[in-house]
Amino acid sequence: MADVTVLTHAEAVERHRLLDVRTVHLDLDLTRGREVFGSTTVIRFGCTAPGAGTFLDVKPSRLRRVVLNGRELDGDALRAGRFPLTGLAAENELTVEADMAYSRTGEGMHRFTDPADGEDYVYTQSFLDDGPRVFACFDQPDLKARYTVSVTAPRPWTVVGNSTGHQLAPGRWEFAPTPAISSYLVAVVAGPLHSVRAEHDGIPLGLHCRRSLAADLDAEAAELLETTRQGFDHYHRVFRRRFAFDSYDQCFVPEFNIGAMENPGCVTLREDYVFRSAVPDTKREERAMVVVHEMAHMWFGDLVTMKWWDDLWLNESFAEYMAHHVTAASTRFTGAWTGFAAGRKTWGYDADQRPSAHPVAPATVDDTAQALQNFDGISYAKGAAALRQLVAWLGEEAFLAGVNDHLDAHAFGNATLDDLLRALTATSGRDVHGWADRWLRTTGVDTLRLTDGRIEHTSADGVLRPHRLTVGHYRRTSEGALELADRVPLDLAADGAGARVDTAELTLPNDTDLGFVKVRLDPGSWRTVRTSLGAVPEELARAVLWNAARDQVRDGELAPGAYLDLVAAHLPGETSVHLADTVLSFAREFVADCALPPAGRPAALAALAGVCRTLLRRTEGEPDRTGLRLVAVRGVIGAADAGQAAELRDWLAAGTVPGGPVLDPDLRWHLLLRLCVLGAAGEPEIAAELAADPSDTSEEGAARCRAALPDPAAKEAAWQALFHGELSTYLADATARGLWQPEQAELLDGLTARYFEELGPAAARRGPALARVLTAVGFPLFAATERTVRAAEACLADPDLIVAARRGLVDQLDTLRRAVRARALAGR
Ligand SMILES: [Zn+2]
Repeated sequence: MADVTVLTHAEAVERHRLLDVRTVHLDLDLTRGREVFGSTTVIRFGCTAPGAGTFLDVKPSRLRRVVLNGRELDGDALRAGRFPLTGLAAENELTVEADMAYSRTGEGMHRFTDPADGEDYVYTQSFLDDGPRVFACFDQPDLKARYTVSVTAPRPWTVVGNSTGHQLAPGRWEFAPTPAISSYLVAVVAGPLHSVRAEHDGIPLGLHCRRSLAADLDAEAAELLETTRQGFDHYHRVFRRRFAFDSYDQCFVPEFNIGAMENPGCVTLREDYVFRSAVPDTKREERAMVVVHEMAHMWFGDLVTMKWWDDLWLNESFAEYMAHHVTAASTRFTGAWTGFAAGRKTWGYDADQRPSAHPVAPATVDDTAQALQNFDGISYAKGAAALRQLVAWLGEEAFLAGVNDHLDAHAFGNATLDDLLRALTATSGRDVHGWADRWLRTTGVDTLRLTDGRIEHTSADGVLRPHRLTVGHYRRTSEGALELADRVPLDLAADGAGARVDTAELTLPNDTDLGFVKVRLDPGSWRTVRTSLGAVPEELARAVLWNAARDQVRDGELAPGAYLDLVAAHLPGETSVHLADTVLSFAREFVADCALPPAGRPAALAALAGVCRTLLRRTEGEPDRTGLRLVAVRGVIGAADAGQAAELRDWLAAGTVPGGPVLDPDLRWHLLLRLCVLGAAGEPEIAAELAADPSDTSEEGAARCRAALPDPAAKEAAWQALFHGELSTYLADATARGLWQPEQAELLDGLTARYFEELGPAAARRGPALARVLTAVGFPLFAATERTVRAAEACLADPDLIVAARRGLVDQLDTLRRAVRARALAGR
């Protein structure tokens, strides 16, 4: 992994000046066994300076042959993923034959063997710079080409690609030439797939998954296709240009590292969106959002592509904004913006307050490694929130007119943020560049603090942004409930003047959550929140209040215990699954597991279990409350102590929780995990569960359970697998989640120190995807002490730490410091 060169922006600019890539013929041979596949690429390209040289990107396990304009080149010239090309002609033909290695980490061509039936599946992930692990190319977004792909595959396989494919002879597939696309968007998915096919508005649609999930996909196909149709109808209404590719396949692929990838005509999505167990409706909403998010990329990202990775955020923020807008406006999930408020935005707020924060639109992204690190809550959530502010300011009509002009001007080509800003300026007549300087070129989040009828507008770094939002005034009814008295628009300039507002029993700036701001209430309003948060009538306003409480805990302004008091008082009556889910997760994962001193944790878990049991009692016999029950039952199980182990065992034996839900595979593994943590179950139960359902998700469940056993030998085995083995990303994630259990702090003490010694070498050996797992769920956050802070700081001082591990550590260290500070507050 270490021996690969990253592409710098300067190199990309120079190569773009020199080359004009026209066509790429790619021929893959997937019949060469389980380790490697054959890859032959023929690239035809022009050169503006004949005689000049450049380099090709290719990362083979064995380079067999390179032929440039009929001249065979010496394969030994390959260095760290680059092959030098010299003496280019005005018109060139380059042929590269290579053996490429399959991956187990979702990077390049991933190969997966289904434990349910032994069948093999492969899929590519070319993003961001892993295309050269599949085919030779000039791997940068602004060297687009028309791709013609052929694939030789085992006979029973189906092969899906960016364009319509045909089987010419058994096992031999050929795909129609694509329009000009970037190398990071080239995709192939293959295996004995189960497929559902349909058509909408002249576009052939396909849904694909592995065979052992056929029944699950069939059960979900109607909803998935309906969302897809609604998405196309919406986009065809608001965009002038139709969908630019010849078909739309959505492939649910195993062990996928991200939510989904917008390969034109061949979207890959993580397989857990083919639900195998009962899920709350919020999970269906999330899936609908992912489906329409990827569809938005067909225009913004695929048809018009960023010139360089510095505009990666614009792809993601635009898709994220459109996804919420389209989901709320055109599907049955009308509460999509509550999910944004309660879930996605906290990701953005957290990221924007870390040492690693960067502007939404960074002025420079020097190389591909840096670009990959910006794939975070700022590029998605803050950027989408910023675009939402922009739409509120320009009006939707001017915004869409500008976007359409931009799409027309750069279709099948590349563009920059500046191109879009100029288009929006032309359609709106506003100073969009000035707005962008404030919102997109700065880091940090503004705070609106209400004091004596004034909104103070500040930010930690002194740079302010303009806001267009609303202020809600809530009053008591005669029955003691709260109701909205009025809602007034508020325009705040970026001058720090703030604003004078009327006050009420509860005065809530940003009550419709249009803004991306931190909110601090006046003391009177906060008293109302403490007594009556659950009585605030609209869920978006409650989401804003829960977020305010959340970031006060993270900022060390509200004691963890006070947050738990709010949860105990106001969550049992909550009706929003989004809020119940996100508040309980934060209360458990940050407050109880990290921010409270260990002595306070058992009482906190008991309180959270009590809240969940009340939610369960309240929703008994209400079938339309399944989502809340699923959230609550997970909470009860996850917070159970040794005294409740017998009850959990009874549920497992009965296969159901009294009054529902039935324990499907997800819940069974969740329950068994808790029993393992408590030492109330072990290898016999794990093996029996795995034998009953020998699927990949069961293998992950078993890995989690085994790593969670309170036994030094089990911990050591998990450790060896995680840091010294060859686990897939998913099995590594499961193992890491099992390993660290706050109940087992004494047993884990030695491993916490070892973590910081072995992280660097393990990350370097396994690469960025594993590094992200090891620093995310693999980080011992529960050990929130000064000692852990110092160990993490020392680890960061290692200059050899790979970029992905460094970034993960920096982010976790920020959360760790916040937990340590909250512990100090709790101890007072
Ligand atoms: Zn995206």
